[in-house]
Formats: sequence, C-alpha cells, structure tokens
Amino acid sequence: MEKSNGLRVVLFPLPLQGCINPMIQLAKILHSRGFSITVIHTRFNAPKASNHPLFTFIQIPDGLSETETQTHNTKLLLTLLNRNCESPVRDCLTTLLQSADSETEEDKQRISCLIDDSGWIFTQPLAQSLNLPRFVLNTFKVSFFRNHFVLPQLRREMYLLSQDSEQEDLVEEFPPLRKKDLLRILGVETELLDQYLAMMLETTKASSGLIFMSCEELEQDSLRQAREDFKVPIFTIGPSHIHFPASSSSLLSPDETSISWLDKQEDKSVIYVSFGSIVTISESDLMEIAWGLRNSNQPFLWVVRVGLVAHGTEPIEAIPEELIERLNEKGKIVKWAPQQEVLKHRAIGGFLTHNGWNSTVESICEGVPMICLPFRWDQLLNARFVSEVWMVGIHLEGRIERNEIERAIRRLFLETEGEAIRERMKLLKDKVGMSVKQNGSAYRSLEHLIDYISSF
Ligand code: UDP
Repeated sequence: MEKSNGLRVVLFPLPLQGCINPMIQLAKILHSRGFSITVIHTRFNAPKASNHPLFTFIQIPDGLSETETQTHNTKLLLTLLNRNCESPVRDCLTTLLQSADSETEEDKQRISCLIDDSGWIFTQPLAQSLNLPRFVLNTFKVSFFRNHFVLPQLRREMYLLSQDSEQEDLVEEFPPLRKKDLLRILGVETELLDQYLAMMLETTKASSGLIFMSCEELEQDSLRQAREDFKVPIFTIGPSHIHFPASSSSLLSPDETSISWLDKQEDKSVIYVSFGSIVTISESDLMEIAWGLRNSNQPFLWVVRVGLVAHGTEPIEAIPEELIERLNEKGKIVKWAPQQEVLKHRAIGGFLTHNGWNSTVESICEGVPMICLPFRWDQLLNARFVSEVWMVGIHLEGRIERNEIERAIRRLFLETEGEAIRERMKLLKDKVGMSVKQNGSAYRSLEHLIDYISSF
C-alpha cells in the first residue's frame, strides 16, 4: 500500500458473487493508492473478512429468513434487501461519520465517499442526507446499463406480441439485442421491476459518478451516449481483476485440483464450462449439456455448483453413475473453480459461458473464445456483443441440446471458423490489455477516478 492519504472509502456491495468480486477488486486498487477501506456487508453472502486483513468489515443485519436466502428470484431478493437494509445502513454510516469527526487530529481520517451498487436504491437519498458523496459501481456493460431503463417502455409497446417472423430483428432502442432476446428479458419481469428501474435511474442521475468495469474499447458509442444521459462523471476503469489477479473474494471454495488437472492437458484443448453463481437450469438441460460435452470428445472442465439445478441441492446426483464414469474419461467436474486462474491456463481453448459480465470480461482478458449460452437479463446482450459485434464466440441461440453443444464445440476447436474466432479474440484481448497499461483509456480513467475521489 502507498502511504495513507488520510482518506477512507466506504464500500457496500450487493451480496451477489458477481457484485462482490468487482467491489473487492476496486477496494484493493484504492487501498494500494493510499485509501483506507471499510466494507459494509450483509450477513447473507458475507465476504470472507479474513482474506482481507487490511480492510475493516462491518456486518449489518439483513433481515432475511433462511427460506428467503435460498430464493432463485434475484428481483425478489433485491427488493427484500433494499427494504430491510436501509435502517441498519443509516445507523452504520451515521456512526462511522461521527467517529471520523471525533478522532484526534493525528488519527483523523476523512470519509471521502460511499461506493455501492446501482441495485441499492435507498443509498443515494441516505448519502445525500449525510452529505456524503455516493458513487455507483456497475457490474453491467455500459450499453446494457444505459439502455435497460427503456425496458418498461418496451413492455408497454407490447413487444410481447411481435410476430415470429420478426424474432431475429434488431431492437432499435436496444442494439444489438434481437427481439427474441428482448422477449426473454421482458417475459419474466413484472411491473415491480418497472418501479425499481425508475428509482435506479433517478438515484443514478443524482449520484456523484458512475464506475464501470469496462473500457472504451468495449463500449463504442455507448459511453458518449451514457454521458449525455446521466450527466455525471463516468469512469470506465477496465477489467479490475487485471490489477489483482487472484480472487480472494470467492464466496465458495474453489477446487484447486482444477489447475493440477489442467496441467496434464494439451495446450488449448480444454473447454471450460461455467454458468456463474446465479443461473439455474433444469435437470434435463443438465443431462443435455453432459451428453453434449461427452459426445464432443473434447476434454472439459465443468463447474456444476450446488444449486445449479433449480430443485435439488446436489445436481451432480441427477447424473446417472454410468454417464459420470463416461464423463470422467474425458473431463473433470468441480463444484466451483478458481475461474480467473483457469481462464489463464495454457490448456484452455474455449469457454462455454452464460455471459455474465465478469465472466465475459475475464474471458476476453485471457483471449479465450466463447460459446454463448445466456439465460437472463444482461447476459443476452453480452452474448450478442461476443458473437455478433466482436465476433469472438459462437451463439447457441438458447438451444440446450446435446447435438447443438457438441456441434458448437467442434466448430470452435476443430474448424476454420474457430481459427478465425481465435484470431479476432487475440486482437480484442490485445486492445483491452493496452487499455489498462500506462496511458491506456482505462488506466487514465482510473487515475481520474482516484483524483476525483481524493478531491471530496
Ligand atoms: N466464478 C468463479 N468460479 C466459478 C464460477 C464463477 O470464481 O466456478 C466467478 C467468476 O470468475 C466471476 C463471478 O464468479 O468473477 C461470476 O460473475 P458473472 O458476472 O460472470 O456471473 P454471475 O454469477 O453474476 O451470474
């Protein structure tokens, strides 16, 4: 850590793996630049404080019952958390600000700002009432964040009624999303979400700035448009894990035998398969993926996390013993992998992914081409960018069928199409890599953010 700059930053991540990782990475970056760090967190999905002895962790009660913590409905979870956490966070911030004031001149440490997720919708008015600048950390791609506020309007315009023949058409208001993607996004969401989005938009516009784990090279026009829309400073500080590679913020213990197994495989021969921390699939989808992987004859490392199959805690038990034996001939199944290390490994040649933004960026940073199997929300947009804009992956178009999966793996690993994809991925990786190097766009944006936070 650089010498302390006398400033403290308070961070408050949403308790989801895809939000905790970037928040802790950002905390590490700021700490290395002289800031002291306090992380306020819920009891549910609490980050492992012992992995970060230099940070102060404060746990607040989240009021979630045991059943509520098991829900697969993220919107419901966010609603409950926003309702339950407001008062504890208010108390916590008030105490922190008071004790910062009462410190002696020598130990005095000013709290410069609060950084939290766009999904917390009560924190902006709260921070404002305490005179504390608030920055919004976004775990989405800029183009998704900016455009997803148009979803309520698109619902009102009855996109649900579009004709089959229009399914492949682009959604003008939300490019490069196709109408069929939009139907999947709108299909499961309710009016509750419309109110939530309206609040999120209002509180984002009132914030002191927006931070994205992205860079100009990945965002094309959307950054300029986002600056016009939100009228607050926007910082695209690049893929944060590049600064501190080992992920110490994992909520589950990564199976380290993944790496020793990869060590025994040939260069660029393995397909890594993971759908992140939230997605759930059906038992029959699980079987189709298992058969697709086996039939492809390509070595694979497959993350089958507890809870991946919606009803059943141990999804692996749903796979018949005989098939497990056949899977083990060619691949390895783990409950959770050290993903960033895995993607870096020389043996990895492709990533069958749900296209969560973290996974997508981690894959680009390591130059690993993707097979896209998005399920929900921003994943559908990220997958379109991967397959159609950057053209560094193959889209499964939602077909979770053994033949389709086998075919996609073969196309990527064995056919000339795969070679072209790998070439383009190498170029994209280099561009993004340059962005975080000295004087690259993300590097400059991070410097700007640090200067800006220091000015409060
Ligand atoms: N991850 C991991 N091990 C796994 C699967 C995922 O460490 O076996 C990490 C991954 O590196 C990423 C995060 O979990 O940083 C998942 O975030 P993402 O945005 O891709 O998906 P989400 O879980 O939010 O759907």
